[in-house]
Amino acid sequence: MKFWTEADKLRDKLNLHARGELYSNYSLMPISWFRVGGCAEILFVPKDEEDLKYFLSRKPEGIPITIIGGASNLLIRDYGIPGIVIILGKAFNYINLIEDKRINIGASVPNKKISNFALKNNLQGFSFLNTIPGTLGGSIKMNAGAYGSEIKDILYSTKFIDTSGNIKKKSIADIKYKYRTTDISDKMICVSSILEGGFAGKDDIKQEIEKFKFLRNTTQPIKERTGGSTFKNTENKKAWELIRDAECDKLAIGGAMISQRHSNFIINKGNASAYDIELLGETIIERVKKKTGIKLEWEIKRMGLGPEVTL
Ligand SMILES: Cc1cc2nc3c(=O)[nH]c(=O)nc-3n(C[C@H](O)[C@H](O)[C@H](O)COP(=O)(O)OP(=O)(O)OC[C@H]3O[C@@H](n4cnc5c(N)ncnc54)[C@H](O)[C@@H]3O)c2cc1C
Repeated sequence: MKFWTEADKLRDKLNLHARGELYSNYSLMPISWFRVGGCAEILFVPKDEEDLKYFLSRKPEGIPITIIGGASNLLIRDYGIPGIVIILGKAFNYINLIEDKRINIGASVPNKKISNFALKNNLQGFSFLNTIPGTLGGSIKMNAGAYGSEIKDILYSTKFIDTSGNIKKKSIADIKYKYRTTDISDKMICVSSILEGGFAGKDDIKQEIEKFKFLRNTTQPIKERTGGSTFKNTENKKAWELIRDAECDKLAIGGAMISQRHSNFIINKGNASAYDIELLGETIIERVKKKTGIKLEWEIKRMGLGPEVTL
């Protein structure tokens, strides 16, 4: 594993501005759903919102900042992530009903917890979140969705802190949401959001959640080391169909292979590197382009540094 040689010095410098936890050369592999990737040069877990704001406003200029949520949609490269990686820990894991149909949610709350809270309060529109791994913050950034719903359908407003420590509140109209993407800049850290649902009976909501769980369990490799759908679906064809049509569904590189359950999922058989996974992804893109003329786009976010991937 590669270590960042100046990391301890940088941590000591940053320590002056933080009440939260600061680590140097922190291995991100155990938190990544793919179970690959190198170290964060610095990992910062803020004590609370004030701490995050203060830290960002005081940190020296020019250090890259990367925000990570549940790391369920990430491919963290093998040499790791330079600069400061921020993970919002338990201080951001709160959830409160603020009005009849509105919930205020901290950015580190897992999607499943949001859906279960909505069920408890007879709120509909949140069931799709029950089966999507990850946290609110990552889901706001990705416009996470499943079974015909997306987070934008229930979003009322979001609070961000930018990488200079300024608070920015945005309503749904201020953000452009498209399929699995938004125009939220990488410099904006979502710290909380208000989501809004409608009322429904508990039994109906429960039934919907059970249906989605069943669909998920029977069609996707949810117990594997994976980052979910690798590529975005295209307007006319699902990514998994394009991959199958280009005869890529049996491809494997090193420890990375295509799931036999769902051909748009790459899985780590146990010993894959991030390089294996990225090379497999790029190989698929090239083969699909050759066969169909369509260029698949990564849905998984690739972060950090690693060996160059060339075909
Ligand atoms: C088995 C499996 C199934 C999946 N199924 C689905 C599915 O059905 N639908 C779907 O949409 N996705 C799915 N995903 C992908 C993933 O779960 C979602 O994209 C999820 O919303 C990512 O949340 P996260 O907290 O893990 O974000 P991460 O993976 O940590 O980050 C994703 C992006 O969000 C950014 N980010 C994270 N936190 C914040 C924050 N607080 N503020 C600003 N930006 C932030 C990161 O910088 C990164 O760009 C699946 C993944 C797996 C492993």
